Amino acid sequence: SDPVKPGATEANMRIDPKDTFFAKIVNGTIPVQKVYEDDYCIAFDDIAPVAPVHTLVIPKLPVGGVGDVAHVDLAKYKEHMGHIMATIPHIASLKGIDSYRLVINEGAHAGQSVRWLHVHIIGGKSLGWPPY
Ligand code: 5GP
Repeated sequence: SDPVKPGATEANMRIDPKDTFFAKIVNGTIPVQKVYEDDYCIAFDDIAPVAPVHTLVIPKLPVGGVGDVAHVDLAKYKEHMGHIMATIPHIASLKGIDSYRLVINEGAHAGQSVRWLHVHIIGGKSLGWPPY
């Protein structure tokens, strides 16, 4: 059995989102083909798609994941995340789909590999359930 218990938040917190690759997308250091951008978020296609449509939406607010809510400006966090949720149908429509799954992986045991909060929009085919 896995000796490491899920929810290893200490390890998660040691990674500063500003040191991640997605920070460079937000600050413009690394150019990316954008699906969508506004004051709050950037959407771009995943480099390793798991479905015909696999787009990532990232806030322009440095936050490592949903588990870091206690470490960010709560008002700004709600503003960014609320905006992202309200904007996802439009982003999906830009990708030509209106049926999709949203995934946010929190922590290594959930499969999070980049410690900058990101929403996966996955679709373009029939998806199985449960997702594991
Ligand atoms: P996570 O596993 O953290 O939930 O999701 C991270 C996602 O970022 C993965 O699906 C991975 O394929 C994607 N990704 C990692 N590096 C890059 C990159 O350089 N460019 C793009 N477009 N996606 C990336």
